[in-house]
Amino acid sequence: TIGPFELGDKLGVGGMGVVYRATYTKTGIACAIKVLAPDVNDSPGVQQRFEREIAILKKLQHPHIVRYYGGGRVGSQRFYAMELVQGGSLEQHLKKRGKLPWKEALGLVRQVAEALEHAHTAGVIHRDLKPANLLLAPDGKLKLTDFGIARDTTATALTAAGKTVGTYAYMAPEQIRGKPPVDRRTDLYALGCVLFEMLAGEPPFDSDNPGELLVKHLQDDPPRVTSFAPECPIWLEEMVFKLLEKDPEERYYD
Ligand code: ADP
Ligand code: MG
Repeated sequence: TIGPFELGDKLGVGGMGVVYRATYTKTGIACAIKVLAPDVNDSPGVQQRFEREIAILKKLQHPHIVRYYGGGRVGSQRFYAMELVQGGSLEQHLKKRGKLPWKEALGLVRQVAEALEHAHTAGVIHRDLKPANLLLAPDGKLKLTDFGIARDTTATALTAAGKTVGTYAYMAPEQIRGKPPVDRRTDLYALGCVLFEMLAGEPPFDSDNPGELLVKHLQDDPPRVTSFAPECPIWLEEMVFKLLEKDPEERYYD
C-alpha cells in the first residue's frame, strides 16, 4: 500500500517513474499511481521536476489528457494518482500492428491535436510527445500522459533554463539547437513524427547513432509517406510534411 491506495501490478516504467495499477481503498475505485523510481527519488532536481509534473497535470482537464486524481507523500516517497488507462501505449500498439490504415491514424492524431491545443492554451508545452506517452483506452480513446519534462510558460523560475530534453526520434530541430526557443510548434513537429510513424510503420528519421539521428532532424528531408503507404492521400502526406518543417515558422500555427 501507499497512502490510501492498494498497489497492484506494474503498468510501466519510464525514465523517471514507475506506474502501478492501484485501488483507492475507501471507494474501491481503480486508478494508476506514479512514484519516482527509487534510484532517482532522493535527487532534489528530480523531486522538483516531479512536483512540476503534478502541478501541470492538475491544471489540465481534457478528455484526451490523463486525468489527475490527487497526490500525497509517504516518508520521502512522493506519489500521485491518475486515471487508469487500460489499453496499453501507442508504442506497444504499433509494435504489434505495424503501420495503421490512414483513417485510423488520422482519428488518433486528431485526438492528440485536441489534447495539445488544450495544453498549449493553458501555456503548457509537452516537449516529450512520443508513442510511449500516448495511452489507449479500450474504447479507442487516446490520452496524452507524462508531463515529466513539460514546460509551463506561465510559470517562471524553474523553467527558465529550458535545456534540451526529449526523445531523439521525435525531437524538433530547435529543441536540438536550443534556438529558436521551444514553443508550441515544437510539439507539432513531434506530432508530425508520430503521425508519420503511424502511417509508415517507422519514424521519419532513424539511426542507431544518436548524433547521426540528430543531424537528420536538422538537415534531411523526410521520406515520402506514400513510399511506405501508397494508399495515403496526398493531402495527408502534405500535412505530415508541414508538421515536419525544419523552421517552426513554416509549420502550422497551432
Ligand atoms: P516516465 O516519466 O518515467 O516516462 P510515464 O508517465 O511515461 O513515466 O509512465 C511510464 C509508463 O507507464 C507509460 O509508458 C505507460 O506504459 C504506463 N502508464 C503511465 N501512466 C499510465 C496510466 N494512467 N494508465 C496506464 N498505464 C500508464
Ligand atoms: Mg514516459
